Amino acid sequence: MPAPITPPPKLRMAVVGGGIGGLCLALALSKHSDIQVDVYEAAEQLKEIGAGVIFWERTWEVFRSMGLSDDLTEVSGAPIDPKPSVGFDYFRSDSPNAGHQFAQFKPPCKLLGLTKRLLHAEIILQDGCIRFHRAHFLDVLIKHLPEGIAHLKKRLLSYEDTDHGITLNFADGTTASADLLVGCDGIKSVVRKQMYEAEAAKGDPKLLQFIDPVWSGTMIYRALAPAERLFEACNGRRHRIMDDAAVYCGKNKHIVSYAVGKGATTVNIVAFATNPEDEGKTYDGPWVTGCSADEVRNHFVDQPLVWALHCLKPLPFYTKGQVTLLGDAAHAMLPHQGVGAVQAIEDAYLLAGLLGDAAVTKDTLQHALHAYEATRLPFANARMAGSRMNGLMYEFNSEHGDNYETLAPAITSQWNWQWENTAEDEVQKALLLMRGRIKTMPVASRGSNQ
Ligand SMILES: Cc1cc2nc3c(=O)[nH]c(=O)nc-3n(C[C@H](O)[C@H](O)[C@H](O)COP(=O)(O)OP(=O)(O)OC[C@H]3O[C@@H](n4cnc5c(N)ncnc54)[C@H](O)[C@@H]3O)c2cc1C
Repeated sequence: MPAPITPPPKLRMAVVGGGIGGLCLALALSKHSDIQVDVYEAAEQLKEIGAGVIFWERTWEVFRSMGLSDDLTEVSGAPIDPKPSVGFDYFRSDSPNAGHQFAQFKPPCKLLGLTKRLLHAEIILQDGCIRFHRAHFLDVLIKHLPEGIAHLKKRLLSYEDTDHGITLNFADGTTASADLLVGCDGIKSVVRKQMYEAEAAKGDPKLLQFIDPVWSGTMIYRALAPAERLFEACNGRRHRIMDDAAVYCGKNKHIVSYAVGKGATTVNIVAFATNPEDEGKTYDGPWVTGCSADEVRNHFVDQPLVWALHCLKPLPFYTKGQVTLLGDAAHAMLPHQGVGAVQAIEDAYLLAGLLGDAAVTKDTLQHALHAYEATRLPFANARMAGSRMNGLMYEFNSEHGDNYETLAPAITSQWNWQWENTAEDEVQKALLLMRGRIKTMPVASRGSNQ
């Protein structure tokens, strides 16, 4: 019998960058059999640098609907638990009365139909959040990625956006073509650079300010420490950090710490040191480099890294023509809320939700990209502002100073957006917007799916 003829895909997508954003987008798109996805990653392998990553119930719901939650539970340090729980404890830690707690963030815990398996999973920590070693988290994404769609050692140099589609030019001299290019290539995105340079050249030079990331004036020291060293240092006592995430606040410095890994075997430590006057200045030197254990004054950790913390200015647009931006390429933010990856994941979930809709064809694609930008840009830009504000508050540099009466509620209310609606609500909002605009098109011009 002759093999069945597979219809050509309605869209060919090029995803540039195989970080959390790019892989989540590829995974979400791969559920739509009429969309062809190719991921082009510059590195020799898909990998994450850095240490821990933390997610809340809102993002967990996205993982569940993407079919990732069971495998993620296996590698997590803290499966989400439906009981009331602590999100973060905040301590004043730079005064003679070191260590007094001044705020506590407790996420509202709704029982959102957790899977039976999750409810019976070994509950190690009960914090309403789920924490991962980044490498383990990425391994789960890679495991779910359909075979043959990730192309490694493909560093994008430039692209051409023509009436016939996109051509991608790689550093190895090869090219590829697609109907839509999504730049998931991180904070130093070449896709963003080319897009903004091209628009600036049309007469709006102000747009050039959105290309280069801005130094925040903060250096961060990141490391993972084996949990047993903490036990030793505490003379066998279980340190509170093993159970609840904490932020230790001080003037111009703060430390975020929580346990990660199955069985909470590892402690994630991120220490921030800020010179507020340096915000916006140019940082000379590598952004990420190894540093001596002396520099972070600890003998608990292995291979500490020091990072010069950069972020973007909030972008005015994500999309031009058949090219759009996603994740850190679109909104690299300060990590003081730990939601940069969360935004990349919601970008991916929403964009895939739009592109997978039956109303989307090559001819209606612009309306999907419009709805993506109109929904995600204001949302993610608000998170950028909130993350910066958290950093100011954690180091007593906000308008609240160290007035705990106003500072504590200001810190905890920063999390409200996570529970005001869901990522799925945002997808539905964007779908309504897109379908409304497509309906205004003459039927004959909506493409073959109509
Ligand atoms: C200290 C710290 C703690 C954080 N903690 C959290 C947290 O707890 N929770 C959270 O949600 N977020 C957190 N974040 C933010 C989060 O890490 C990022 O927002 C997220 O990893 C961004 O993912 P991305 O895929 O957009 O970009 P990236 O991870 O930067 O991935 C970009 C990919 O593109 C590739 N690439 C780059 N250029 C090219 C090119 N020209 N061609 C092809 N490929 C290319 C890169 O190799 C890379 O694989 C934290 C950030 C920091 C700094």
